[in-house]
Amino acid sequence: MTWQDYTHDMQRCTRCSYCKWIPYRYMQNTDFIEGCPSLSHYLWHAYASSGKFNMAYSLLQERIEIDDTFLDVLYRCQMDGSCDISCKVQQDLEPLQLMQELRIKCVEEGQLLPAHMVVIEGLRKEDNMMQSSKTDRGKWAEGLDVKNLNEESAGVVYYAGCRYSFDEELWPVARGGLQLLLDAGVDVGILGADEACCGGRAYELGYAGELTKYAEHQMEALRTAGVKTLVTPCSDCYAAFKVLYDKIGKKLGIEVLHITQYLDRLIKEGKLRLTKEVPLTVTYHDPCHLGRLGEPWIHWQGKEYKVMGQMIVHDPPKKFRRGAKGVYEPPRDILKSIPGLNFVEMYRIKEYSWCCGAGGGVIDAYPDFAAWTGTERLKEAKAVGAKAIVSACPWCKRNFLDAAQETGEEIEVYDIIELVQKAV
Ligand code: SF4
Ligand code: SF4
Repeated sequence: MTWQDYTHDMQRCTRCSYCKWIPYRYMQNTDFIEGCPSLSHYLWHAYASSGKFNMAYSLLQERIEIDDTFLDVLYRCQMDGSCDISCKVQQDLEPLQLMQELRIKCVEEGQLLPAHMVVIEGLRKEDNMMQSSKTDRGKWAEGLDVKNLNEESAGVVYYAGCRYSFDEELWPVARGGLQLLLDAGVDVGILGADEACCGGRAYELGYAGELTKYAEHQMEALRTAGVKTLVTPCSDCYAAFKVLYDKIGKKLGIEVLHITQYLDRLIKEGKLRLTKEVPLTVTYHDPCHLGRLGEPWIHWQGKEYKVMGQMIVHDPPKKFRRGAKGVYEPPRDILKSIPGLNFVEMYRIKEYSWCCGAGGGVIDAYPDFAAWTGTERLKEAKAVGAKAIVSACPWCKRNFLDAAQETGEEIEVYDIIELVQKAV
């Protein structure tokens, strides 16, 4: 698909503004009903996905061209997909796919954000999104008694991802997740310094070639390692392996699980026992890439045409991803199985969750906007009485930590791995 393939969607956008909010029937508290961080922060229609349809149509008609303003509006967006899910309550349009294709077009035409160029240059040189040396990639696991899959075989690969591999403050979480698997007797190994980026974040910036390159690399590396299951504690990596690789026709062909799915399985099988009390009131933040963006890809091939000059028909009928099939219950089941833990839900949850703020390259190019978005979520967590916000992604944890530090919001920030560790 290209951006022009969404011409009918550009014409069919009714400017109803559903994309700016969570659906009416899920609104519980008027302070927490917004869905689009970009629109809510910049308060201008262009920043909503409806505005992106306007921009794309204007581009198509050659009334505007890609310039700095166009790039600014397009990239001050987390690509979190809240708009996409809410739009599909009202209309079956594909705003997220249109925005993705617009970003790919910008990159193909050399219209690049300087902050993202730095990230991509680092990726091309060092195979990671953190501008760090690839030789240091396995350092987070130093001292752990775990198989190196380059030397020994194992049934499961624990794939840390770029953020966990190079963000030293988060190393204890990455190590903790692996240790839980080891303690449960899982036959698990790591790729160490030979692990490379999944390519998912680069794709979201518009660098489509990087996703293909790393998908092919992973297919070969995992085939050589002979693993049957990939487990990752990173939600971004999960979405890349599970959804994006399938989208571009590079399905891995092995079981792909987020660590919350695997830990939930181990707990339910009695291989991991949570016995210690954790007396804390917590709420759970659904990472976008584990939730709505983690819903499996639905392939469709057919004809899209107009009848009676206005109605769009898909032949054969097209099924849409509405976000409901993301990973929502395993992390909640884990939290509910921790003794002494008081779990409370926020107002915007599951496919209607508010973004942490880090996605779509915003944490790299617009850190103030990332912090504002994260702070909005911390306020929501506090509003439901939580003393701690728990997530299941290193990008969420990093952004919440930074947001709390910047704005002084007093709330503890955990990854779910840390709470499981406290309970075993
Ligand atoms: S919800 Fe969909 S149709 Fe409505 S304004 Fe937003 S993008 Fe357009
Ligand atoms: S992806 Fe998120 S930030 Fe971007 S337009 Fe949609 S809801 Fe707004």
